[in-house]
Amino acid sequence: MAVFGVAAPIARNPVFGSGTIKRRRIETHGFWIGEDAVESVYIVREKLAQDQAWGLEDLHGCPSVFAIQSPTIICAMAFPNKDGDKKIESLREKIRHHEYLYYVVDNPEISDSEFDKLMQQLKDLEAEHPELITADSPTQRVGGKPREGFVKVPHSSPMLSLDNTYNEEELRDWERRVHELSGRTDVDYVCELKLDGMSLALIYEDGKLVRGVTRGDGSVGEDVTLNVRTVRSIPLSMDRAKFKNAGIPADFEVRGELLMPTGAFKRLNEERERQGLATFANPRNFTAGTVRQLDSSITAQRRLDFFPYILLVRGRTYFERHWKTLDALEKAGFKVNSNRKMVHSMAEVWGFIQEWEGRRDSLKYEIDGIVIKVDRTALQDELGFTGKAPRWAIAYKYAARAGITQLKAIRWQVGRTGKLTPVAELDPVPIGGTTVRNATLHNADEIERLGVKIDDWVQVERGGDVIPKVAKVIKDDKDHPRGTKDFEMPKTCPVCGTKVVRAEGEVDYRCVNANCPAKLRETILHFASRGVMNIEGMGDALVNQLTERGLVKNVADIYRLTKDDLLSLERMGDKSAQNILDEIENSKKLSLERVIYGLGIRMVGERTAQFLAEHFGSMEALESAGAEELQDVNEVGPRIAESIVEFFSIAANRKLVERLREAGLTLTGKKKQRGTKLVGKTFVLTGTLAHFTRDEAKKMIEDAGGKVTGSVSKKTDYVVAGADAGSKLDKAKELGVEVIDEKEMEGIVGG
Ligand SMILES: [Zn+2]
Repeated sequence: MAVFGVAAPIARNPVFGSGTIKRRRIETHGFWIGEDAVESVYIVREKLAQDQAWGLEDLHGCPSVFAIQSPTIICAMAFPNKDGDKKIESLREKIRHHEYLYYVVDNPEISDSEFDKLMQQLKDLEAEHPELITADSPTQRVGGKPREGFVKVPHSSPMLSLDNTYNEEELRDWERRVHELSGRTDVDYVCELKLDGMSLALIYEDGKLVRGVTRGDGSVGEDVTLNVRTVRSIPLSMDRAKFKNAGIPADFEVRGELLMPTGAFKRLNEERERQGLATFANPRNFTAGTVRQLDSSITAQRRLDFFPYILLVRGRTYFERHWKTLDALEKAGFKVNSNRKMVHSMAEVWGFIQEWEGRRDSLKYEIDGIVIKVDRTALQDELGFTGKAPRWAIAYKYAARAGITQLKAIRWQVGRTGKLTPVAELDPVPIGGTTVRNATLHNADEIERLGVKIDDWVQVERGGDVIPKVAKVIKDDKDHPRGTKDFEMPKTCPVCGTKVVRAEGEVDYRCVNANCPAKLRETILHFASRGVMNIEGMGDALVNQLTERGLVKNVADIYRLTKDDLLSLERMGDKSAQNILDEIENSKKLSLERVIYGLGIRMVGERTAQFLAEHFGSMEALESAGAEELQDVNEVGPRIAESIVEFFSIAANRKLVERLREAGLTLTGKKKQRGTKLVGKTFVLTGTLAHFTRDEAKKMIEDAGGKVTGSVSKKTDYVVAGADAGSKLDKAKELGVEVIDEKEMEGIVGG
């Protein structure tokens, strides 16, 4: 039995964590000690043919080797990391930045496949230089850190992510490791769809749902029980007979994927676009944003779905086979995904992968690959975990579907909020079974980033249900010569000819003409909708006819409609026409804030409209307010203020308001009486307060005339810091802003 340390072989091993080289199984554990040294412990478990294998010179500077007479060999080494590869560190920084955008603020800048590529680069570099692995490397952690606002809850056992594979060869490598580590070749596997949502743990006690927890960083998640309860496919309490029949004890935990079906995603994004809110890049980000809503009624409206795939009892897998777990969960009344298969070979796994790559568009939700798990729990336990992921499961990720074609022209599309989106007109190209003729270029910055010219050859990518996008320009390729024509940014709206505007610090160009025909239909639908002027009966069908026939050219025209106008429309009887006229008449009584909201001023949602109405008390005062005064209003920052000023600077918009006034709408309201004690004072709240909720503290300050904002700047007068205050407190100290506690806040507000 040979006993010795090894450092070099592990560097050639693609898997940091464990692997087999020349029939020796090696496990590695890397530790970051102090600031400039890494300690790695390598354990070799294998009987060797000869005692004499590697000499010390092969150990790459390993300073100490402990030879122990046992089948286990340990080499502990510590060495300086002064030459710390700058490339690795800058790559990590980049990945951390994108992780932050993705996990913390739910606003990614790069696609998943681009992110995966960065991650793979880092993994490769670290595999080459295991001595440079640090505990804080993105490869060494499970997920993002939870953001402020929800109570943190530890998981019963870590919620790990899976390692990814991208081709058949990598999959075969995984199978080989499973065979080698388990010492058997007759392994059953379960194939499941890799749902593109977010992981969630549900805890049931006595058959009742008591807690829903997000994955968080894998060991601690956020308690989102109230939101989870609104997901209709999650049982709030179990049918006793059912789960007895399923053989599940009354206290258990299920883990699975929470997701938003693509149809609901599309509708909600359209609605947000209509309200002038930022849209989400994909259903997964929408799901993450939804489950973190503080108002669970919003979550309820969004129709999330949940598919469980893990059952734990006291933190451990309960059934002896994974397949049985899925069946039992299904029997117990959970929505288990039916697209699953038990297989006995990698050939069958590969068949399943290919089958679903062709069928993924037929699903009502997005998948980004296939998950393969070893079926037997005993075998899973034997295979165990690396630091980051189980060895008994692997994900296969589908490649982004892409094609190369020539870009013929760039056309500008005007959206509902007036946003101009560049669309690439392509030489038609088949991608994943459909012919793609157009692809989005997102915005002018993206065109610049890509460096795209007319007649360039471009790579176009298509996700599940997402609009195809231009991913890159083909450069330095004889077969695909570069285009020469630069595109031109339109100076006026391609639909109405009004000058387009690009607000300071924003990427999008917009047509700000409220009467632009491109925006008209959606503007009217928004104005008439329930939450705004509540004109029942004025839905899609009616608005289509009214705009097509030119009966309504702006929202003020609604108040000029006559019964004869309405009767001239298709499928309109006397009674319905009268009902609509009554509805229109009733809408005139609605409050000022609704009218402000109804104007569709960009970035002015329901809440902002309410604050504006309370602050100004009349449309007239709002119209003439300058950017400075507007920023005195609750939650109105420079960008919103600018958007409002811009809206009223356009003659057509002022004329529109005038006509609404003539029509008899309510354009005055009650000014909210607020204290004057804190006028002009700006507060920022951070951390957890002991005696008030955030909303209560905010109301106290606002009632005294003060203003509460979200971020600390030089203009901030006070930062109120509660327990566990984070970066905002640091920022306040850095800027020298006065930091007060809860008691002091009460003193300032009350006293
Ligand atoms: Zn326009």
